[in-house]
Amino acid sequence: MNLIVQKYGGTSVGSVERIEAVADKVADFHRRGHGMVVVLSAMSGETNRLIGLAREIHHEPTPREMDVLVSTGEQVTIALLSMALHKRGCDARSYTGSQVRILTDGAHTKARIEDIDVHRMRDDLDRGRVVVVAGFQGTDAEGNITTLGRGGSDTTAVALAAALKADECQIYTDVDGVYTTDPRVVSNARRLDTVTFEEMLELASEGAKVLQIRSVEFAGKYKVPLRVLSSFGEGGGTLITFEEREEMEKPVVTGIAFNREEAKVTVRGIPDHPGVAYNVLAPVGEAGVDVDVICQNVAEDDAPASLTFTVNRSELPQAKAVAERVAAELQAKAVETDDQIAKLSVVGVGMKSHSGVASTMFKALSDHNINIQLITTSEIKITVVIEEKYLELAVRALHDAFELDVEKSNA
Ligand code: ADP
Ligand code: ASP
Ligand code: MG
Repeated sequence: MNLIVQKYGGTSVGSVERIEAVADKVADFHRRGHGMVVVLSAMSGETNRLIGLAREIHHEPTPREMDVLVSTGEQVTIALLSMALHKRGCDARSYTGSQVRILTDGAHTKARIEDIDVHRMRDDLDRGRVVVVAGFQGTDAEGNITTLGRGGSDTTAVALAAALKADECQIYTDVDGVYTTDPRVVSNARRLDTVTFEEMLELASEGAKVLQIRSVEFAGKYKVPLRVLSSFGEGGGTLITFEEREEMEKPVVTGIAFNREEAKVTVRGIPDHPGVAYNVLAPVGEAGVDVDVICQNVAEDDAPASLTFTVNRSELPQAKAVAERVAAELQAKAVETDDQIAKLSVVGVGMKSHSGVASTMFKALSDHNINIQLITTSEIKITVVIEEKYLELAVRALHDAFELDVEKSNA
C-alpha cells in the first residue's frame, strides 16, 4: 500500500465548503487504495484571531498559555474533516498532537519535534482508517501543549511522513506550487516544476512562507519526497528534489525570498577588543532571541567598533533590552533600533559557478535608488537589508533584472 501524508493549509480548510472539498479529495485518494494521513491547519485567520484575544487580556501572555490557546484552532478543523469523511462512508479518526504523541522540547511557541510514536497511527492505517492529525502542535515531556511556530503544520506533515516512512508528503495550499517569488507580490512570477532541497531551504529560511523552514530541514534529513500543490486545482505542483542538477541546467538565480518581519539593532561605539561580538550576541541568544543577519564594523584608528544584527520584529523589545544592558556593561556609546526594515534574498545553486550575480543585484537596486543597509552572502544566496517601504519595488526590480519570468538555463 502506498502511504501518503497530505497537509491542507488554512485557506484550504477556511470554510465548511472548503472542508467538504478537502474531504472529497481525501476520500477519493483513500478509495483508490492509498493509506492516508491528513494534517490540517486551523481555518484561515483563526490563529491570528486567537492571538488577538490573548492580547486583549494581557500585554505579555505566558508562552505556555499561548500554546494552550492557539493549538485549539487545529482541533476544530480535524474534527470537522473527520465528520465530513464519515459522511462520505470513509472511516476516519482525528488526533491532537499530544494524542499521537508528537513529542517536542519545551520551547513554547517555537518547539522542535524530538520524537513521534507511530503505533496508534499504524494501527488505524492497518484497519483502513484515514488518520487526521492536528498540525502545528505537540506535547513536551511533562505533558504541556507546545506549538511549532507559525506555519508549523508543514513541519508536522513532513515529520509524520518521515516517521511513517510515507511514499510522499503533499503540501496542499492556496498556490499551485513554489514560484520564483511570492506570486502575490510579482504577478509574472513563474511556477517551478522542481526546486532543489538546498534552494528550498534558503528560500524558506529567507521568508518564502510557502513552506516552514523546519519542514524543509526534516525533508532533507530524512529524504522525504515533498511536493507543494494547490488544494483548488489540478497539476503536478512543485517537487523538492535531492539530486544535484546537471551543471548546464542550473539557473544562476532560481528565486527571490523576502521577509518583512525583521528589525535591526545596532550597538555603537563598542571598545574594540576580542570578544565583542560574543559579549553582545551571547546574552541575546540566552534570552531566547534568534539572531539573523550580523554585521560588524571593524574599528579604524581610534573609532570604536559597531555591531548590527537583525531579529524577528516580535522579539525586538527583548533584544533591545538585552543590548542596552550589555552596552552599559561594555561602556558602548549607544543602542539604536529600527523596525522599518525588510530582508531580501536572491537564491540559486548556479551561483556556485557563476560570478556577477551580486553586481547585477546591486545595480538593479541602485537604478531604483534603493539603499542597501546590510549585505550578507552564502554559496547560493545574496541577502540585503533595505528600508521596508522599498521592498515590493526591490523584489520586482530584481525579478526583472534576473529575468525570472522566463524559463531558461545558463547553458
Ligand atoms: P497555508 O495556509 O496553505 O500554509 P501559507 O500562506 O502559509 O499557506 O503559504 C502560501 C503562501 O506563500 C502563498 O499564498 C504565497 O503568497 C506565499 N509565498 C511566498 N513565497 C512564495 C513562493 N516563492 N512561491 C509560492 N508561494 C509563496
Ligand atoms: N495555524 C498555524 C498558523 O497559522 C499553523 C499553520 O497554519 O501551519 O501559523
Ligand atoms: Mg503555511
